[in-house]
Amino acid sequence: MRTLESYTCGRWHRGTGTPVALHNPTTEEVVAETSSEGIDFRALLAHARDAGGPALRAQTFGERGALLKALSAAIHEHREELIALSIENAGTTRSDAKFDIDGATGTLAAYAHLGQGLGEARSLPSGPGVQLGRTARFWGQHVLVPRLGAAVHVNAFNFPAWNMMEKAACALLAGCPVIEKPGTPTALVAWRIAQLVVECGVLPEGAYQFIAGSAGDLLDHMEAQDCLAFTGSSRTAALLRGHPNLVRHNVRCNVEADSLNAAILAPDVEADSEAYGLFLANVALDMTQKTGQKCTAVRRILVPAERLDEVRTDLVAALARIRVGDPAERETRMGPLASAAQYADVRAGIERLAAAAELACGGPQRPQGLERGWFLAPTLLVAADATADVFHAEEVFGPVATLLPFGGGAEEATSLVARGGGGLVCSAYSNDNAWFEAVVAGLAPWHGRLWLGSDRMAEQSLAPGMVLPQMIHGGPGRAGGGEELGGLLGLEFYLQRTALQGFQGFVAKTFGPAEADA
Ligand code: NAP
Repeated sequence: MRTLESYTCGRWHRGTGTPVALHNPTTEEVVAETSSEGIDFRALLAHARDAGGPALRAQTFGERGALLKALSAAIHEHREELIALSIENAGTTRSDAKFDIDGATGTLAAYAHLGQGLGEARSLPSGPGVQLGRTARFWGQHVLVPRLGAAVHVNAFNFPAWNMMEKAACALLAGCPVIEKPGTPTALVAWRIAQLVVECGVLPEGAYQFIAGSAGDLLDHMEAQDCLAFTGSSRTAALLRGHPNLVRHNVRCNVEADSLNAAILAPDVEADSEAYGLFLANVALDMTQKTGQKCTAVRRILVPAERLDEVRTDLVAALARIRVGDPAERETRMGPLASAAQYADVRAGIERLAAAAELACGGPQRPQGLERGWFLAPTLLVAADATADVFHAEEVFGPVATLLPFGGGAEEATSLVARGGGGLVCSAYSNDNAWFEAVVAGLAPWHGRLWLGSDRMAEQSLAPGMVLPQMIHGGPGRAGGGEELGGLLGLEFYLQRTALQGFQGFVAKTFGPAEADA
């Protein structure tokens, strides 16, 4: 039996008390256990602030970029081992495991490259300088400087590698030490990565700490220069955001939460077009990749009412080709859900959707031939009436989506999608730019990202569920109101924007944009 330890204050800590079990979702067997009891969370935060922060801030962006490059390489070297652990503890197929692990190393590498581009800098100009006096002598410049606290990262169970490293990449490059807490049910991969980070010795002491198991009373000890970046359910987000100590100190919080992502098929898309092929392929991929346990997965599929039967037939056929089973087997395309709790939640969610829609395939029952493990078949529902609340309120975090008919107009589609209350990504498929413009006008305020699929980009496109380090990840309202990644924008959460006002000869020269950028 493996016991996952936490890495705190420069040593590995084995928790006391009753441990929590981690399982293999394919066999339901226990594969590891962990506890964070006995950790001095106040000391852990102080260690980050007093040791990790100063050591990171002593380096330039370029030097910190080099740290990220080395981390990416150290983790990538163990790629096969990490894939095996992901299959074992998260029930991912090999392809899904790569999505998580290569996502982590790829994001580290992308931020390493950005760091390299910033070179010797220790602060970043924010926008152009501005003349404040009668002449340019009195000058203003907004500047971004590293904050002095620790970054606490509380992550969801579904991306143990990527979720940890996409946050850590931004924080470390910004000069902020990190405390990483993965979702407990799938923490095995995150724990092994933590070991690799510590063993490779690349980071200064205190720059990286790791909690396996509960966050204990960590939040009680956070202070004004610290920040909390959370990924998980809206329910937990509300709890953390309202934590009295965080409220008292105005601790910065970034929340990445639920999202009822939609895909919209426009009426102009013909059945034999590339855009239609792309729509079917992306929806089927999104529903089944990581067994639908992806924050960006599509939950609502809007199609013109007269195309409902055609799309239903095509999607059911595409989903029937997805072989569900043991993720260790090469032919398997979709593994089990990650935990018993997830399994129960998703089955109950399907029941609630099915009360308002017809099941086209799948369902809450165990697929035939799979007697053990937390398996479900890809589940497509078809609604006769798209306006029922349940479709726009219920995030069923599994391989489940509902086809919703609409009249074909962009305004009707956008008002239906907006009922989700704010999302991470919405994909739309059309070859009509006027239709796209109406969709952007209606849905950009409700989303962190809009993905516009057409014949002309079909060949080169990456699927809408894929989060890229260059582009913002996050969304307003229900999606948490947060922003992560987006290239250098992702660093801003860890930096303080300060308005400097003074003599132009000093302020502009020392803190302003390089002349070529000004
Ligand atoms: P969750 O139950 O909210 O847990 C998320 C994290 O919060 C876990 O690390 C959990 O730790 C921790 N946590 C729970 N209660 C806490 C407390 N009182 N104090 C401190 N930490 C606490 O979510 P999940 O089931 O892991 O993830 C699924 C949800 O995440 C879905 O709703 C999905 O939409 C969302 N998600 C969003 C994004 C995004 O980028 N927007 C990405 C992935 C997932 P334990 O595991 O130890 O309980």
